[in-house]
Amino acid sequence: MLVDRFNRKINYLRVSLTDRCNLRCIYCMPAEGEKKLMHKEILRYEELLRVIRIAVKLGIDKIRLTGGEPFVRKGFIDFIKMLTSIEGIKDISITTNGVLLSEYLDDLWQSGIKRLNISIDSLNKKTFKEITRFDYFDQVFAGIEKAKNMGFHPIKINTVVMKGINDREILDFGRLAIKEPYHIRFIEYMPIGLDLKDPNFISNSAVKSTLVNNLGSMSPILQGRYDGPAKRYQFHEGKGEIGFISAISNSFCSTCNRLRLTADGKILPCLLSNMEVDIREPLRRGCLDEELIKVFQHAVRIKPKSHSLNIDGHQMVHRKMCSIGG
Ligand code: SAM
Ligand code: SF4
Repeated sequence: MLVDRFNRKINYLRVSLTDRCNLRCIYCMPAEGEKKLMHKEILRYEELLRVIRIAVKLGIDKIRLTGGEPFVRKGFIDFIKMLTSIEGIKDISITTNGVLLSEYLDDLWQSGIKRLNISIDSLNKKTFKEITRFDYFDQVFAGIEKAKNMGFHPIKINTVVMKGINDREILDFGRLAIKEPYHIRFIEYMPIGLDLKDPNFISNSAVKSTLVNNLGSMSPILQGRYDGPAKRYQFHEGKGEIGFISAISNSFCSTCNRLRLTADGKILPCLLSNMEVDIREPLRRGCLDEELIKVFQHAVRIKPKSHSLNIDGHQMVHRKMCSIGG
């Protein structure tokens, strides 16, 4: 079991499979894209599986696959099939922008993935294009509906609310969580990697007030062991849920149970710090499992008590979200 200096049990690994993406969301990537990692810099699937097997031996039982956009990496579905055969993993989930989702839903279902996190920041075609810089709204929304009709559950919809950009849609997302079984999760914008002039920050307490003042009260939902940091609510007779992930206004560091593995083989003890521990070098040197275990233990040992990022960008994180995975 991995336990850090502050007695937090670490059982969750978020694995970024690629730094590449088929969108350029304004809060995550510059319009021209990022300098791409070279093929040889990215951990191969067999290297990833070895690292994950070690992590599972150490008590990791929850894995999230992210990116960049995980579906743009070749062989992703075969990788998932191998991942699902590792004993000891209780929960595998995927975060995707949904652009390629429709064509892979059958494969996902057959490989045992029954729940999804899909990021969509607008229910309006024009605003979707302004945020992502691509005209894929219909494709993404069709993927979400197809997943719902196939029985994927829960379908969590990640939405970053930005003042003056998509905050006029807060109620539309609220209504969607009433009408449909989706779990809408409002994520606070984080000033990571990109030096935006105007961060457009809007706190989740402001989002919650807008929802409650216009759509009626919400009851809190009890958190389960695999829930993560979202504070969950439900409208009276709502089919879906609302969740708030408030890393900036209400940090959840004291209960943080996660490590991140980047596509280029660095373990990040904290999303909002610049600490990294290299696991690729020992891996490619042909080290024994014991050395990889020590790398994990070191990453856990240096995990900070809390992050020191606030909305003014104090202590900017160098990596961009697309190379961390969110
Ligand atoms: N491409 C996939 C997607 O968009 O779902 C997975 C990777 S993306 C980096 C993971 C999550 O991070 C997305 O939900 C995205 O909205 C969120 N994200 C990216 N940059 C962010 C930022 N600066 N602040 C808050 N959330 C951010
Ligand atoms: Fe791509 Fe996801 Fe970043 Fe948007 S948030 S640019 S979809 S990695």
